[in-house]
Amino acid sequence: MNLNIGVIKGDGIGPEIVTEAMKVLDKVADVYGHTCNYTQLLMGGASIDVHGVPLTSETVAQAKASDAVLMGSIGGDAKTSPWYQLEPSKRPEAGLLKIRKELNLFANLRPAILYDELKGACPLKEEITEGGFDLMIMRELTGGLYFGERKTIEEDGVITAHDSLTYNENEIRRIAKRGFDIAMKRRKKVTSVDKANVLDSSRLWRKVVEEVAKDYPEVTLEHMLVDNCAMQLVRDPKQFDVVLTENMFGDILSDEASMVTGSIGMLASASLNETKFGLYEPSGGSAPDIAGKGIANPIATILSAAMMLRFSFDLDKEADAIENAVEKVLKEGYRTIDIMSEGKTQVGTEKMGDLIAGYIE
Ligand code: NAD
Repeated sequence: MNLNIGVIKGDGIGPEIVTEAMKVLDKVADVYGHTCNYTQLLMGGASIDVHGVPLTSETVAQAKASDAVLMGSIGGDAKTSPWYQLEPSKRPEAGLLKIRKELNLFANLRPAILYDELKGACPLKEEITEGGFDLMIMRELTGGLYFGERKTIEEDGVITAHDSLTYNENEIRRIAKRGFDIAMKRRKKVTSVDKANVLDSSRLWRKVVEEVAKDYPEVTLEHMLVDNCAMQLVRDPKQFDVVLTENMFGDILSDEASMVTGSIGMLASASLNETKFGLYEPSGGSAPDIAGKGIANPIATILSAAMMLRFSFDLDKEADAIENAVEKVLKEGYRTIDIMSEGKTQVGTEKMGDLIAGYIE
């Protein structure tokens, strides 16, 4: 199979970690008889340096012409980088918001997996994490509070800020369908998270999710209020399979879920649209504090590449091969500095990539 992959290496540690993910993809292609054709794309600070803007229309067109895009992370140190002297619409992060919108990436997937080998890094008590956990947060990405109308006005000397939270039934239906589809590939359970005791948008959310659930009789659906979900994630994360939720709740819950797994360097993510296309990237940022030192953990990006194979190319065996290789390397005791613990072997970014590629079979 020919895999046409747009690659945004990005800023900070981005180029280091994406290079390792490409190394692993090339090994997979070699072993399983595929060809990876990469198109290098500029976004964020790297694009500002060359084009003066964080994302050009040409880059958007090239991304759209790819089957999927693999991305590092973008942005720099807000205190010292000249990119942050620019007006907000020209800063690195504006490129990220724009590409999500241009590519209509409305579904964000963030797996939170606790590997048995890394359970020491999990801040939860051992009796809670015994046996590990594996859940997937599915967050709506293009609607809700972050995209609603906003304004700040001053009346009679008092300043008031307004943000509006709007969802229509079509936006809810398409993300719900995606959530149930993913659950069908997993343990067939969806927990839909809302605040239906207070918000109209949540009541509509719940109604539409229930309608969609009728088409998936094998999937168990439960509803949970967002405040309860925040508690349950640290009380009993094993109860979750797919957590389906709107934009702001998902933003907060996915960070909470990542935290309970231990390290940001292990967390993959995917943003999908209605076709097979997806943008795959680690959940963390560009880590300017460790950029160029060769110590960043490439595993989140490598696992994002595995998600790309699974969701954009339907190459499940190949995705399994990457995930198994990561597990093997962890079992053998190799660790980057962020997940290092006593008695383990510390390796840098490149060596970690070599080891994982070496275990692809
Ligand atoms: P960050 O995730 O970059 O860093 C937080 C901490 O985690 C740092 O100590 C960093 O060293 C560590 N870390 C992150 N990834 C790591 C990895 N792979 N291996 C080892 N350690 C890792 O968050 P931040 O410092 O808040 O943001 C830095 C920049 O990244 C900012 O410009 C921010 O806007 C940007 N950012 C970009 C994205 C994205 O591209 N999607 C996401 C979040 C933040």
